[in-house]
Amino acid sequence: MTVPGDRLTAPQPGWSESADVVIVGSGIAGLSLALSLRSSGLRVQVVTKGRVEEGATQWAQGGIAAALDDEDSPEEHLQDTLVAGAGLCDIEAVRILVERGPAAVRSLVALGTRFDREVGGELSLTREGGHLRDRIAHAGGDATGREISRALVSAVQNDEGIGLYEQALALDLLTDSTGAVQGVTLHLMGQGQHDGVGAVLAPAVVLATGGLGQVFEASTNPLVATGDGVAMAARVGAAIADMEFVQFHPTVMWQGPTARGQQPLISEAVRGEGAVLLDPAGQSLMAGRHPLGDLAPRDVVAKAIMKSMRLTGAPHAWLDGRKMGSATWKRRFPTILQRCQELGIDPREQLIPVVPAQHYASGGVRTDLDGRASIPGLFACGEVACTGVHGANRLASNSLLEGLVFAERIALSLNRELPRRREPVEPSTQQSVVSNAARPLLQRAMSDGAGVLRTAASLESALAALQTLPADFPGQPSSSDWETANLIVVASVLAHQALMRTETRGSHWREDYPEVDDEQWRIHLRSRLVSGEWQTQHEPCESPRWETWV
Ligand SMILES: Cc1cc2nc3c(=O)[nH]c(=O)nc-3n(C[C@H](O)[C@H](O)[C@H](O)COP(=O)(O)OP(=O)(O)OC[C@H]3O[C@@H](n4cnc5c(N)ncnc54)[C@H](O)[C@@H]3O)c2cc1C
Repeated sequence: MTVPGDRLTAPQPGWSESADVVIVGSGIAGLSLALSLRSSGLRVQVVTKGRVEEGATQWAQGGIAAALDDEDSPEEHLQDTLVAGAGLCDIEAVRILVERGPAAVRSLVALGTRFDREVGGELSLTREGGHLRDRIAHAGGDATGREISRALVSAVQNDEGIGLYEQALALDLLTDSTGAVQGVTLHLMGQGQHDGVGAVLAPAVVLATGGLGQVFEASTNPLVATGDGVAMAARVGAAIADMEFVQFHPTVMWQGPTARGQQPLISEAVRGEGAVLLDPAGQSLMAGRHPLGDLAPRDVVAKAIMKSMRLTGAPHAWLDGRKMGSATWKRRFPTILQRCQELGIDPREQLIPVVPAQHYASGGVRTDLDGRASIPGLFACGEVACTGVHGANRLASNSLLEGLVFAERIALSLNRELPRRREPVEPSTQQSVVSNAARPLLQRAMSDGAGVLRTAASLESALAALQTLPADFPGQPSSSDWETANLIVVASVLAHQALMRTETRGSHWREDYPEVDDEQWRIHLRSRLVSGEWQTQHEPCESPRWETWV
C-alpha cells in the first residue's frame, strides 16, 4: 500500500533561526525536558501547536505512579508493570522507570506541584487497575494533570533561557546530507516577528507530541492528539513500533451512539475508591473474571465490558459509585463529579453509563533507553515514544511518569554531548497534503476496523478505506489539513501492524486469533516507511515470560 501523506508539505521556509535543541510539544515530556536541559545552559526552543497548556497532560486525572510508600518497592512496581504489559515490556526500560520514579515525582514537588497530602503531611497515595499497592500520587483530587501542567508551565515561563513558540505547528524534520536530523520546519500563526512557514535549525530535535486519539471517532484525548510526531519521524525513515497496542480505557462516559471527539473519562481511581462495574442486569461485571476484580488491568476490564455488551446487546455497561458517598466524591473526584452533573447524571445517586474508548498509544517512535530514535539527531519522549516500558498494555498512571523519567535521560545524554551540527539539505517542495474533509472518513474506518475488536477482514477494510480518501489538496493548506495527512500515516501503520500480529495480547484483541501466541509473537513489530510502503521487521523483546489470567 502506498501511504498518502508520506511526502508531506515542507514548503520552503521563509525564515530560520537556530538553537541547540528543539522540543516539539509542551506536555509533561516536553516541558520537563526543557527545564532539565536548561540547567546545563543549552539553548532550548520549545514549539507547540496550540497554547502551551494544551495536550493530554492537563487532562490526566488519576495521578502518577511511583513506589513512594515505605511498604512499597520499585521491584513491586516493576512486577505490576510487566504483568500489565503482557510479556512485551522491555525490562531494562521498566527498571529505569520504576527506579527513577520516586525521585522524579519528588522533582515535581520541588518544582512547586501541590500533590494531595494526608493529615500528617505525607503524600496521599491511591490505587488503580493493575497495581497491587497504593502508589498513585494525585493532586486536586482528580485534577493531577492540571496541577502538574501549571507547575511546569510556570517554571518554563519564568526561565528566560527557554524559547517558547505557541501556535506553532511543526510540519517536517530537516535532515543533512548524511540523513541526520538538523531541525524542524514549522508554521507559525500570528507571531508578528516570525509568521508563516519557517525553520528552527538544531542538531537535536525531540518529538514530545503526545498521542494519536484523533485517529478514532471517540477518544479521551484532546484535539491536538493527531499523532504528528509519529508521522514526522516516519517521513524521515525512523522506526515506528508497537502501534497495534492502542489502549481503550474501559470507563469512558457513554453519551449515545453518535458521540464524537474528546469524551469524558471516568478515572480508574473511582474504582480504586470502591465503585464497581455492573452489567445490564445489575450483576457485578468483573466478579470471578480476574483476581483483581474491578481493578484488573485495563485491557481485561475493556474486554469484559465488550463481551458483556455483545452478550446482552446493551450499548454500554454501568459504573456504580453510589456507595462511595458524597464526601468521597467531592474530595477525591470534584472534576468528574462536576462533569457528570453537567451531563445530567449525579453519580452519588445514579449509575454512570460507560463504554471503552481510545485512550493511550503504547507504541510510537522506537527509541533506545536514552530516547534516541533510529535516525541520528532525532529523539522522542512521552506518549509519542515507544521506549518499551508499556509493552502490550500500559499500566495505569505510568505514562506521566514515563515522560518525566525519560526526559531526564534525554537531558543527561544531550548535556553530555550534542549531535554534530551540519547544514540541512533543502527540503523537498513536493506536496502531499490531505484535505481535512478526509478526517471523519478516516476516523470512521479506523473505529470500525481497528478498534477494540479486530479481525483480518476489519483491518483490511480499514486499510482499503485509507487508500480511497481524497489524497491531494489544491490551494493553501490549513493546520487541520496538515494534521489530517499525519493521521493517515499513523492510521496506516497502526492498521498494518495490527493486521500482522495474528494473536490476542494486551490491548490488541484479534477475534480471529483469540489466543496469546508466545512462540511466534514475543516480539515488537518495527516498521519503516520506505518509498511510501511500510517495511516491517521483528525485533526481539527482552521480557520475562508472563502469566495470563484472561
Ligand atoms: C483524559 C486523560 C486522562 C489521563 N489520565 C492519566 C493519569 O491519570 N495518569 C497518567 O500517567 N496518564 C494519564 N493520561 C495519559 C497522559 O496524560 C499522557 O500520556 C501524557 O500526558 C502525555 O504527555 P506528553 O508530554 O507526551 O504529551 P501531551 O501532554 O499530549 O503534549 C503533547 C504536546 O505536543 C504538542 N504538539 C503535538 N503535535 C504538534 C506539532 N505538530 N507541532 C507542535 N506541537 C505539537 C501538543 O500541542 C502538546 O503541547 C491521561 C490521558 C487523558 C487523555
